[in-house]
Amino acid sequence: MERFRMELESRSRNEEFAQIVAAVFMGRLDPTVEEMEDVKTAVSEAVTNAEIHGYPQETGVIEMEMEIEEADLTVRIRDRGVGIADVRQAMEPMFTTDPGGERSGMGFSFMEAFMDEVRVESEVGKGTLVTMRKRIGRREP
Ligand code: ATP
Ligand code: MG
Repeated sequence: MERFRMELESRSRNEEFAQIVAAVFMGRLDPTVEEMEDVKTAVSEAVTNAEIHGYPQETGVIEMEMEIEEADLTVRIRDRGVGIADVRQAMEPMFTTDPGGERSGMGFSFMEAFMDEVRVESEVGKGTLVTMRKRIGRREP
């Protein structure tokens, strides 16, 4: 097993940084271009959520952890921000709490579409942990 961990400040300029780091780390699994794009998109959605929803006022710390276990890639994105009261509702397609109407509420749906498994654990006032797993290189075992 190989593991990697880093902390990012919740600034929009760090979204791309997280994506690129994720792509480089998963490169060890010899992914297809499509698999790489899928993971980059999912990471971007989770990090953006942590930044804008998790820390709506202040700049906080976002933890990103990645693990490779054989062909399985696991990504964890954690914030210690406001948390989510109703995770099931938050994960519904087109659900958003964005008042401005510029968000479509599709972030979690994209994560679920592009990864094999998405798990969200959250507590109001404590923060949110998004765990995503994807098998890379669909070889027969
Ligand atoms: P989009 O991702 O399409 O721009 P969105 O961010 O509102 O819009 P989702 O990413 O699906 O949509 O998230 C749905 C809702 O879940 C958000 O509007 C927000 O209320 C809540 N949410 C998501 N991530 C977090 C988080 N890390 N902390 C607190 N709330 C969150
Ligand atoms: Mg979102």
